[in-house]
Amino acid sequence: MHRVTIIPGDGIGREVSLAARRCIDATGVKIEWEEQIAGQEAMDKYGEALPKRVLDSIRKNKVAIKGPITTPVGKGFRSVNVQMRMSLDLYACLRPCKIYKGAKTRYENLDLVVVRENTEDLYRGIEFAAGQARDVIKYIEKASGATIRKDSAIGIKPISIEASKRIVKFAFDYAVKNKRKKVTAVHKANIMKETDGLFLKVSREVAEGYRCQVEFEDMIVDNMCMQLVQKPELYDVLVLPNLYGDIISDLCSGLVGGLGITPGANIGNDMALFEAIHGSAPKYAGQNKVNPTAMILSGVLMLRHIDEVKAADRLENAVSQVIAEGKDVTYDLKPDRNDPTAVGTSQMADAIIEAMK
Ligand code: NAD
Repeated sequence: MHRVTIIPGDGIGREVSLAARRCIDATGVKIEWEEQIAGQEAMDKYGEALPKRVLDSIRKNKVAIKGPITTPVGKGFRSVNVQMRMSLDLYACLRPCKIYKGAKTRYENLDLVVVRENTEDLYRGIEFAAGQARDVIKYIEKASGATIRKDSAIGIKPISIEASKRIVKFAFDYAVKNKRKKVTAVHKANIMKETDGLFLKVSREVAEGYRCQVEFEDMIVDNMCMQLVQKPELYDVLVLPNLYGDIISDLCSGLVGGLGITPGANIGNDMALFEAIHGSAPKYAGQNKVNPTAMILSGVLMLRHIDEVKAADRLENAVSQVIAEGKDVTYDLKPDRNDPTAVGTSQMADAIIEAMK
């Protein structure tokens, strides 16, 4: 029996989480689910968006699966998603982007993996509002000799040797374990010579240790975007600092058929939290409309993580079969988004469960 924390999320979160939970249970793997709430729902009930009980539950169970949670823009509480990854030091964000036959895409046979650093960079959330940043501006001007407009807001981008080393090492270890051929480190070291320059320097040092096993190259992030759109088949495992990792993983998701089908995992030294790349898509909330695949495939990653490999393979094959048949799929997987034969979230999960029998 495994114990797993489940955080349903909000917006479309509950619908896709429930679908994923039903599919995971249908594999026959015995899981005792411990439900916790976070985000606005927790704010209303407990007065905080990320109550300690949620983190304690994940620390205890070591494995969690989570639906998307809305982050208020510009005001309100800080992203619960980011806070969770940082508080639990879930430093590696793994986002496999693979084409399933029948998915709506312009490409063929892509199988890329994005490894995003999860704990630092501009995502550290160290920001000073315009007007309140004067002391910081004064200090920076004195230390650097640069001038900064007085009405600027300031954001801090920390990139450390330690965090860069462990994420690049994670990418190489993943490549070796999964028989991948190449790791590409993505950066903007031509402009950000100290921060991204450090990430690149560390990447090259780590790569040396894997020279006989895995090929290594580096690429500037803007060029990477163009290359991925034109010839994505040339890439295998990408490793990136936090912000570029966030953007490039949505891009890669678009290459293989969209956010509805791309799973993810946040992994630390002894804990892991599985979640789709997509957000809470509030405009579709409560409509039983969106695609549950990304959450279900996050469940597949979770099953592999807890060594339930056969169950993971069965569930992934069932997802693949339902997408390939193209009948019991949600609107985003139909050639025409207005196709009246598109099924709802829970019906697609039913079809996947049926395909496992
Ligand atoms: P989003 O991913 O929620 O939605 C963008 C669009 O992608 C949707 O309008 C929809 O067309 C499509 N989409 C998303 N999920 C889909 C699915 N399962 N099936 C079919 N189509 C799908 O991005 P957003 O609108 O930028 O963000 C909404 C909220 O989600 C924000 O508050 C954001 O902060 C939050 N968010 C949370 C997480 C997380 O919990 N890890 C991740 C990203 C965004």
